[in-house]
Amino acid sequence: MIDRLAEYRRRRDAARTPEPVPAGPTPKGDDDTYVIQQHHARALHWDLRLERDGVLVSWALPRGLPRDPAVNHLAVHTEDHPLEYAGFAGEIPAGEYGGGHVAIYARGRYEAEKWRRDEVVFTLHGAPAEGRYALFRTGGRGDGRNWMIHRMDGYPEGWLPMPGDARPAGARLGSAPRGGGWAYELRFGGTAVLGAVDGGRLALIDAEGRDLTRDFPDLRPLGEAVAPTECLLHGEIAELGGPILLVSDLLWLEGVPTVDLPYGERRELLDGIGVAGPRWQVPPYLPDLGSARRAAADVGATGIVAKKTTAPYGEGWVALLATRG
Ligand code: MN
Repeated sequence: MIDRLAEYRRRRDAARTPEPVPAGPTPKGDDDTYVIQQHHARALHWDLRLERDGVLVSWALPRGLPRDPAVNHLAVHTEDHPLEYAGFAGEIPAGEYGGGHVAIYARGRYEAEKWRRDEVVFTLHGAPAEGRYALFRTGGRGDGRNWMIHRMDGYPEGWLPMPGDARPAGARLGSAPRGGGWAYELRFGGTAVLGAVDGGRLALIDAEGRDLTRDFPDLRPLGEAVAPTECLLHGEIAELGGPILLVSDLLWLEGVPTVDLPYGERRELLDGIGVAGPRWQVPPYLPDLGSARRAAADVGATGIVAKKTTAPYGEGWVALLATRG
């Protein structure tokens, strides 16, 4: 009898990895368990595993599961995994095969309606993966290991796609607003951008619609750092001993447009994403112009943007000089 797990075992040393490495034969299951693991290996990917004939048949998805039925994602067929792997999360030591952090993104029951050598059609149950999908083998490169995964349902219920044509809103030069209800952000004379994060990848778009992603390789790990969260961020790329993305606003989060929410609510949602890394930060906003000017002097900011705390994205933003003019 063929050992379905021979390749899996050959690649792993049970003494060196916390992954399950069962010695015995494959068990008999119900062919209805699935797991998707988010795997921060050399490159971030999501491992989709479907139980079949006593093993987890596996594909690595560099962009994750598609939500858009019009956009198929690559799915690289990998070695069968033991059923025990459906419960695995943890740290595979650096230097070992697949070294890096593994987290469970989705897990539950699935049904296969078609299972062929080159095509698998199935339904995943349970958030956030719910839906009907097709995996199909493609020709071409990849030793026959390259498949694609297609979402056969529409967008998940309630999910609106990230706007593809949005641009960073600007502020008009003006005089200091009077009264309360304003928030003040610091500016450093950098480039205003939108940061689109999906599938663990970051794309940077400036006000003219130019794609600046390739110009700022140091910022790209932001995509992996916030995965699996998908979001559209507003920020400034400031030069502060190298480029740093200072994120100050949010246009879209996990299928929900946020541009019409008041600033205060957008900032709360933004705080929940956890944009905090060596080259990306969400600097706090200041509650009044006096403290904003003092903070600006302390950190060398050149400008201040005032935003009405009850207003939608981009509405009534006022650009002020950091020093009293
Ligand atoms: Mn993997």
